[in-house]
Amino acid sequence: MSKRIEGARRAARIVHALKCPVCGKPVSVEDEGRLLCPENHSFDFAKQGYVNVLTRPAGGHYDKELFEARRRIMMDSGLYAPFHKTAADLVREMSLPSGVPGVIADIGCGEGTHLHRILEELSGLNVIGAGLDIAKEGVQLAARDFQDAVWLVGDLAQSPFADHSIHVILNILSPSNYEEFTRMLAPGGRLIKAVPGAGYLRELREALYSDERQTYSNEETIGLFDRHFRRTETVTLRYSVHLEREQLEGLVRMTPLSWSPDPEAARKFLDRESAEITVELELLVGEPRD
Ligand SMILES: [Zn+2]
Repeated sequence: MSKRIEGARRAARIVHALKCPVCGKPVSVEDEGRLLCPENHSFDFAKQGYVNVLTRPAGGHYDKELFEARRRIMMDSGLYAPFHKTAADLVREMSLPSGVPGVIADIGCGEGTHLHRILEELSGLNVIGAGLDIAKEGVQLAARDFQDAVWLVGDLAQSPFADHSIHVILNILSPSNYEEFTRMLAPGGRLIKAVPGAGYLRELREALYSDERQTYSNEETIGLFDRHFRRTETVTLRYSVHLEREQLEGLVRMTPLSWSPDPEAARKFLDRESAEITVELELLVGEPRD
């Protein structure tokens, strides 16, 4: 079976959680590999097995190489392994539906590695993953390599997810839309949002920058979460990972921190065999306030 048809069949399993991003009506999954609504808006699955539900071309520029670098380091270095395990533990504690599969949506899934790894940790649990990102270059990689979730290119502001259909929203180091999260979450559903802690990639910040970018405060991000969601649990994760030179290069490449580092500082940072890198993340778990 082609990846296109496989992707469509996976989507058929969560079709009740999908809606037409144009008119908002329910969609069906057609045998030939497309989503179709009663108003005849249709979205074809791509040959890699994802579906693009953008209603207009996405602005912005995404770098395929950046996603590749992120993928490699996440798969090879264990940089986020403790995080994936903790996130999966949080999902296991939740009350998921019995009978029908629970739907876990990763909003801002990038190249899909976080969702893939968390689903691996959850093997045996009756859940289905769906990853959404506006960057096609990321979702293409996700669909190419991970056949364990439904992959969608789309805009959260014109969401392809139906009202109250998602049991767990993952939002990992990625922007939020709390109105949409509230609309999408099923009764009793939870949002798990991961934000960087003050020590996140501390060694990298200190080496690359000499200004205020050396430090990071998540106060504003957490304040926004608390205004919209009632927190039910908070987990702070702090650990360090030993990275070899090649992985450090990937780290410099993949992180938004590196958008404009001093090239000389980057070269100096990479002029070493290995380094200990701190990962500090806050996992905020909550439910909508209203
Ligand atoms: Zn429609």
